[in-house]
Amino acid sequence: MDIRSFIKIAKAKIIHPFFPYICIFCSERTKREIDLCIDCEKNLPWLNQVCIHCAAPLPSNINSICGTCLKTPLPFYKICILFSYTPAIKKLITGLKFQQRLLYGNILGTLLAEKVALLYQQEDLPEIIIPVPLHKKRFRERGFNQAIELARPIKKKLKIPIDHTSCIRLRNTAAQSTLPAHQRAINVKNAFIIRKRPAAQHVTLLDDVMTTGHTLIELSRALYDTGVKRIDVWCCARTYLSNL
Ligand SMILES: [Zn+2]
Ligand SMILES: [Zn+2]
Repeated sequence: MDIRSFIKIAKAKIIHPFFPYICIFCSERTKREIDLCIDCEKNLPWLNQVCIHCAAPLPSNINSICGTCLKTPLPFYKICILFSYTPAIKKLITGLKFQQRLLYGNILGTLLAEKVALLYQQEDLPEIIIPVPLHKKRFRERGFNQAIELARPIKKKLKIPIDHTSCIRLRNTAAQSTLPAHQRAINVKNAFIIRKRPAAQHVTLLDDVMTTGHTLIELSRALYDTGVKRIDVWCCARTYLSNL
């Protein structure tokens, strides 16, 4: 968002306190309870036709499994990811993480809650949301955990509690995005410990971006060890090593 759009949005929110929602992309007022208009939402890079376990793109057919997952399945039962990691989505996610644009977290979390509701239909939702924890040093530097910010609107819309105390990130690992694929599994090995067993059998992990999935796999491993029976994964964006 450039400074002119930012001022326009700030002014509109002051002048119209009862209709304060302004699209972050086109700066038009919207009647939805979210700062994103319908047209701009339609133009976002929605992930469709993806593997139901890892969200890798597939040539066709929904409800299919990719060749990699057929050979070596990821330890997730169900995966829900909103977008491909294009520059527009990168701007939202980095804006949330590094410029404290919590508004973006609210938009992404709300869209994720809507997609989850469609995907699960009559199926039971997870009992708790576990936002992927940050190491305490990174949490202190950033002042918040972006995954918790994404979880807040989901908690509100789907009435699923957030558990941000059971799991701890023990090691302050290098950011996965800075590493080549073969080092990512090693980088996060034993990165998490479970401080107390979650009060649930069916949980979902929540993170901003998934690439190889090693962070989520490692956290899942620690949770399965405590007796959790089913782990789903919800993320805002899926990136593939080729488009980093
Ligand atoms: Zn718009
Ligand atoms: Zn797959």
